Amino acid sequence: MSEQQQFDVVVIGAGPAGYHAAIRAAQLGLKTACIDAALGKDGKPALGGTCLRVGCIPSKALLDSSRQFHNLTHLFGDHGIAAKDPTIDVPTMIGRKDKIVKQFTGGIAALFKANKVAAFYGFGVLHPGNVVKVRQHDGTEVELKGTNVVIAAGSDSIELPFAKFDGDTIVDNVGALDFESVPKRLGVIGAGVIGLELGSVWKRLGAEVTVLEALPDFLAAADADIAKAALKEFKKQGLDIKLGAKVSKAEVAGTGTSKTVTLTYADGAGEQTLVVDKLLVAVGRRAATKNLLADGSGVRVDARGMIEVDEHCHTGVDGVWAVGDCVRGPMLAHKGFEEGIAVAELIAGLPGHVNFDTIPWVIYTEPEIAWVGKTEQQLKAEGVPVKIGTFPFAAVGRAVAMGEPAGMVKIIAHAETDRLLGMHLVGVNVSELVHEGVLTMEFSGSADDLARICHAHPTLSEAIHDAAMAVHKRAIHKAN
Ligand code: FAD
Ligand code: NAD
Repeated sequence: MSEQQQFDVVVIGAGPAGYHAAIRAAQLGLKTACIDAALGKDGKPALGGTCLRVGCIPSKALLDSSRQFHNLTHLFGDHGIAAKDPTIDVPTMIGRKDKIVKQFTGGIAALFKANKVAAFYGFGVLHPGNVVKVRQHDGTEVELKGTNVVIAAGSDSIELPFAKFDGDTIVDNVGALDFESVPKRLGVIGAGVIGLELGSVWKRLGAEVTVLEALPDFLAAADADIAKAALKEFKKQGLDIKLGAKVSKAEVAGTGTSKTVTLTYADGAGEQTLVVDKLLVAVGRRAATKNLLADGSGVRVDARGMIEVDEHCHTGVDGVWAVGDCVRGPMLAHKGFEEGIAVAELIAGLPGHVNFDTIPWVIYTEPEIAWVGKTEQQLKAEGVPVKIGTFPFAAVGRAVAMGEPAGMVKIIAHAETDRLLGMHLVGVNVSELVHEGVLTMEFSGSADDLARICHAHPTLSEAIHDAAMAVHKRAIHKAN
């Protein structure tokens, strides 16, 4: 056992929430350490958490590769571009993704060095008195004492008891980002964000994809008009999405490359079976707090393992904070970024806060889905009087010129004050466009503010302009 090392801030976890907390704390002159247990595909320590290793970045790399392939095989003909018998070399595509992951995980190590954050590679356990004992990968143990400890342990995939992950045939995101070839038939349990994004990747590359979703409604968290428009597009693409499908069994048969999974599920039509070659289970994630807290740490977790915190991410134990996926709120990288920064600033005696009302959501399918603020259904349930304006991308010159006419923008404003309450989008590049709504809401702007802002022509953002004008029935490019 080495001597105890003393820090102003000890961060457990170097994912989006943890590395933001660590870098910001170091920028503010605090002596900071950050511990992470994860190893990359090469068996070496890899910082950046789920997001950089097996989440946001690798999934977007594969979404982009598969989009290029899909466009080549389905859309390029319209432009007069012909390619003879295009093929996809999956190992090359995966290799490209791995290179991007390595660049970014290595980038966090470089940022730690530049900001003088001391990195420790191993598993940390919080003991009473803000002491974190780290079992390092080489088997040695170090003991770090922090005036403050920030827990940023992230989340893990939820496993279904009847469909245990085997890393080969039944997989979570980690396996589905690393298939060695395009599965002929891919089953997906859960039509949530991961199921739709990774289902889209393999569908575009030629897999037959069937998605089984337990709930009767598609994308229940999204505005109903946006979810309906998106579902129509996904069906057109051939994604077979079965709603109200309750899976009860997943049986693996066969050996080697001829393994199959037979799924038993029940829907409105009774009990059914589905045979697939690979199964992706994407039914949500849970806080990664197992073995993290030693007896007497004082930190409380709820029934689902989530660390309990107040609105400032404080756990109630002197100097102990928690941020990111392991605490309440949406499991999004950028929510973790903001919490990490806010906590570092609070520790340094500065004001730090996160506005949960303006956290954008994006689903990177094609078309993309994005929103900020409340849905029409939520506002109506709360009895808030609203005015709504919509505009289709099919009437936007730039979208049509790009061959991307699918989708719409929906803007919801307060009926009396005109204040923007929500912006909901489905269409091309809406992951970027949604920030116009975020900004307007942050500055307490109105639909009329948006309608009076000059938008460049021809751009996709004109859909937002016209939707804002439609709130007051003065859209120019459609009948009001
Ligand atoms: P994590 O990223 O999970 O990082 C936690 C880190 O802590 C890990 O490296 C872990 O090894 C380490 N750790 C845990 N316990 C210990 C311990 N005791 N000791 C040492 N180290 C420990 N979000 C988006 O906003 N946009 C997206 O496009 C997006 N795409 C996603 C795609 C997929 C396939 C998945 C799975 C997730 C995606 N997410 C996306 C969600 C996003 O990845 C998470 O919200 C984000 O990574 C959470 O950040 P975090 O820092 O809280 O935790
Ligand atoms: P999710 O919560 O988005 O979706 C899970 C889906 O599975 C839900 O629709 C749920 O009703 C369904 N489900 C649950 N149990 C089921 C069962 N037994 N049978 C059939 N369906 C079932 O979860 P996810 O897709 O696993 O993603 C986890 C989290 O990761 C997301 O909530 C999100 O926070 C984050 N993420 C974000 C992005 C992004 O921002 N673009 C991308 C991927 C993941």
